[in-house]
Amino acid sequence: MKNFGLLFVCLSVIGAPHSRVWAAEVEYPIILVPTGSDTYTFPEGYQTPWDQVQIRVTEKLSPNLFVLHGSEGLDRLHPDASGGRVMVLFGPDGVLLVDTQGRQVADKTLAAIRTFSDGPIKVLVNSHIHPDHSGANAFFANQGAVIFGQENLRLDMINPQDVNGQPASPRHPAAVPVVTYQYDASTPGKPAVTLHMNGETVDFIPMMPSHTAGDTVVRFRNANVIYIEDFYRNVGYPYAAQRRGGSIKGMIEAIDLFQSIAGPDTWLIPGHGTLIRKDDLLPYRAMLVDILARVTALRDEGKSLEEVLAENLTAPYEQTTQGDTRRSKDRFITAVYDEVKDFPPIVNGSRTMPTHP
Ligand SMILES: [Zn+2]
Repeated sequence: MKNFGLLFVCLSVIGAPHSRVWAAEVEYPIILVPTGSDTYTFPEGYQTPWDQVQIRVTEKLSPNLFVLHGSEGLDRLHPDASGGRVMVLFGPDGVLLVDTQGRQVADKTLAAIRTFSDGPIKVLVNSHIHPDHSGANAFFANQGAVIFGQENLRLDMINPQDVNGQPASPRHPAAVPVVTYQYDASTPGKPAVTLHMNGETVDFIPMMPSHTAGDTVVRFRNANVIYIEDFYRNVGYPYAAQRRGGSIKGMIEAIDLFQSIAGPDTWLIPGHGTLIRKDDLLPYRAMLVDILARVTALRDEGKSLEEVLAENLTAPYEQTTQGDTRRSKDRFITAVYDEVKDFPPIVNGSRTMPTHP
């Protein structure tokens, strides 16, 4: 009797705390390196010292879904954490990458992956064309990756334009996606590709022209996580890369789509800034709608771009916007100004936008 009682006590002592420890271990996301939140300033003529930028595992979203991001305080364009986030799904089926970071840090990005996986690099999907996301495409293609992306992204890579709309030099052939798909406005949110790898089900969902005309968001169904790339940002003001086919109005549509494709607990992983949930998109949407209405009214009154910029329309949002540089504000307002009148169509994945002095 005595022994039986002791055994019962032992089992309850072992059982109860063990399940609590286990529950704590599977609490995702695990934030290993928070994105920086300082006010960053750089001297005139500052160049990012790529040799000093470290690429590290900054977040874990499941036991085999990790995020890589660059170090804080060095990259002028992304001072809170250098470059664009990379997601890495790994396991017995090999490595799937969402984006690559820049070509300047390609070796370091691969080295960071090799700290937790020695599997073959198999699949790479590009969320969009910007070099902080696709700059190391050729490097990872040479590691064995098959590159996926929207057809508009491929077209923009092979027919690139400079800032004046003139032909620029195309990307290395190895950098160009080999599997492409298109956004279908009649079925927004429908995956173009679904992959089953490493116990995950991964959806590549083509987006409407929003950050660019070639955006893809990537959903990891089991981890309940979606990489939302750059149509949303919480560092600086919204950036619709219109020359790449982006659209401010499309960014509003993208947010609305997320109200249906994401659940209340789904973690959304922006290309830059901090992790969010879909409710965090709503104040951002309200700002886009408000600025769009104000700029439309001013433009209808015949105001010039300079006059509209001088109105400082983003003033009500300054308290809540981190990293609100003059450049980021003016880029946002200029994009809205250009979009509300004579907005050029997308040709070969890009738009010929007006140039402002
Ligand atoms: Zn980016």
